[in-house]
Parts: sequence; C-alpha cells; structure tokens
Amino acid sequence: MKQSTSTKSRRDFIKKSVVGLAGASVLPSILSSQDAPAAEVKKTGKQKFIYRTLGNTGIKVPIVSMGVMNADNPNLVKAALESGIVHLDTAWYYQRGRNEEMVGSMVKGRPRDSFVVATKVVGDPMDRETGLFTEQTSPEAFLEKFETSLKRLQLEYVDILYLHNVVRREAALFKPLLDVMLKLKKQGKTRFIGVSTHRNEPEVIQAAIDSKAYDVVLTAYNFKQPHRDQVKAAIAKAAAAGLGIVAMKTQAGVYWDKERQYPINMKAALKWALLDENVHTAIPGFTTFDQMNLDLTVMEDLTLTAKEIEDLKMGEKLGMTGLYCQQCERCLPQCPKGLEIPTLMRSYMYAYGYRNMTAARQAIESLDLKSIPCSDCTLCTVTCAQGFAVRDKIYDIARIKDVPEEFLV
Ligand code: SF4
Ligand code: SF4
Repeated sequence: MKQSTSTKSRRDFIKKSVVGLAGASVLPSILSSQDAPAAEVKKTGKQKFIYRTLGNTGIKVPIVSMGVMNADNPNLVKAALESGIVHLDTAWYYQRGRNEEMVGSMVKGRPRDSFVVATKVVGDPMDRETGLFTEQTSPEAFLEKFETSLKRLQLEYVDILYLHNVVRREAALFKPLLDVMLKLKKQGKTRFIGVSTHRNEPEVIQAAIDSKAYDVVLTAYNFKQPHRDQVKAAIAKAAAAGLGIVAMKTQAGVYWDKERQYPINMKAALKWALLDENVHTAIPGFTTFDQMNLDLTVMEDLTLTAKEIEDLKMGEKLGMTGLYCQQCERCLPQCPKGLEIPTLMRSYMYAYGYRNMTAARQAIESLDLKSIPCSDCTLCTVTCAQGFAVRDKIYDIARIKDVPEEFLV
C-alpha cells in the first residue's frame, strides 16, 4: 500500500530526528571527555565555591545555579543540592508542570533557608507580533497559574517569581500583572519579583530598572550574542541600581552543529558570562552529572585559558552558525507569511541543542501552526542575521507537532 506523504515524512522525522536524538543520549557524554573532569571534583571533595549576592535581595548564592528546565532526573537535582548548589530555577511552563513537581519533591523536607527556588509564570495572552499584553491579558489567570506552581512545588512561597519571557518595555511595565506580582510579594507568597527576557534584553532590563518594582532580572547573556555589549551595559546599570542579575542561555545552544559533533566548550562559555561580576549567578541547564560537575569546576578559576578563548571562536573557524538564535527579530519583517521565526528557531535549539523535545514541541504548539509553514513558499526571502538557513530549519522542526507524544518523552 502506498504511504501518504505526511505519514512518510512523519516516520522519517521520527527515525532521523527523534529516535536519533534519543539514541544519542545514551552515548557517553561528549562533555565528560573535556578538561576538568568530574572525578577531579569528587576526588578532592573540596569544591571551591564563589558566592555573589543577588543585588538588594541580599540572597547570597554560588555563582553556579541550576536551570532545571531540561532535567528530568530527580537525582540530578538532589545531587546539585548536595554539591552545594542553592538556587534552582524552574517555570510553570516547563515539562507541562512536571519540572516544578520534581523540584518540589527534591526540596521537600530540607530547611527552607537552605535553598532558593525561582519560578516563572507567563502573562497570557500576549500579542505575538508586538510582544505586548492585551486587554484580554488576565491577572487572574496569572494568579491561578502561580497558585498551581506553589502546589506543584509544595511550597508556601517561592523566593523569586518572574514574569516570564518578556520582550518589550511596555510588557515589563504592564500594570495589571505588575500589581498582581507586588500583591503576591506583600502576601509573602514570593519573597521577590523579577522579569525574564531572552529577546530585546537591554530594553526589558532598562524597564525593570525604571519600574522600581522588580528585584531581579533573568536575562540571556552569552559570548555569541551580537549585541552582547549592549546586554553587558544594561546588566551593569541594573546591578548598580540594586537589581539581582541571573544569567541564562550562557552556553548558547550547547553545540555548534545539529549533528552534535562539535560541542561548544561549556566551561569556557559559562566562565565568559561569570567573568562579568555584575552577573550574580548563572543557571546552566545541565542534564548529566558530568555536566554538573564540569559547570561547578568553573569556580576553581574563572580565568579563560588561551585554549578556551580559542574554543569560543570555533564556530567562526569552522564556518558554523551554531544552534542559538539570537532572537534579534530581524527576520520577522522579511517573511511575507509573518512566521514567528525566532520561536521556531528556539524550538530547533531545544530539540537539537538541549534534546528537550517537550520544550521544542511546546514552543511549536504555542504558534498554532496549521501545516508545515514554508511548504508553499517557492523562495525564502529571509536573510537571518546569524546566517541560519531558516527555511530548512523550519521544515525540520515544524514536523515535531505531528510526532506522537510518546516519542517525545
Ligand atoms: S532567526 Fe536569525 S534573524 Fe531571526 S531572530 Fe534568530 S538570529 Fe535573528
Ligand atoms: S520560506 Fe522563508 S519567507 Fe517563506 S514562509 Fe518560510 S521563512 Fe517565510
């Protein structure tokens, strides 16, 4: 019997992409063969820790925290806490709630002042084209989600509640949501409030300063950002204004290539961000014990070695763009179909860089795509600032919406 094209392409995708990714995950970690191996840390049992204070919050944390987003192994969270990591970053959205549940079960029974939990809640709806909240954006829905987060976390309060994924000044200052967050702070359901941003960061960070309401900023910050100087300047201003600064996406997509033959030197990338003393902590999303131990070793010496500096230029030398989309939005006006290309590229990075297929699928689902979006476009008119072949990547990743859920777990 003849297979339909869609069935065939779905099977091909599962075969080439999902199963390929799952299979690769049982290989020994590429990272474990990098310098500064885990054994060194375990052997000495004396991991040096560098602490910084999250601005005026007064919360003192090691400069290496845990971004739990991509982790699904509770023992890894437990090991992180037992290694001395204090700050766990999760979100209402991650793994459809399982991520918060896992964090909750791992902190349960520990002294409440021995860990710092941050979660993030999105404001809904947000106009995707403008990045602005609308008249329909509901503070009640935000509140309801946050109450769900507390239940999943089994906590009476979190340490930091972020307004998640903000891309515009107006959104950061959107009064109905800011008011509800301030109310939650007053009620003691969160000790501090923050805003998270991985697009248009300098504008959002400036808004956080101007708000005189936010305590913490969680921002993308890495060596690959073309606008890293502007992000750095915004971070410096925010830190001077007393905000706590948490860096994310420090490892910039983890690999230079989709085939995962060329890993980004994660230790070097993390050092690069933490060398900026205005960054108080970073939340690398390690998913293995080796990666965790490797990340912890940055505290032994933050200096970038000559080799590490060279490694951070590897993409340039190999002519590889990497998997990290800068979310600069330059592609948006170029696509006649108005595709949300930054979100599609983010999904691609989740799948091929992080191997977090649930997050990849969730990002695609948020777009409500009716079909493979580029299929009736004969010529791609988009020139990506980063040099991505966006059409190919969209073709590749958009099919994930048709992959059965069981293949994604
Ligand atoms: S796809 Fe390219 S142009 Fe579009 S946001 Fe990402 S890096 Fe920028
Ligand atoms: S092929 Fe290019 S121009 Fe056409 S829909 Fe896709 S991204 Fe947009």
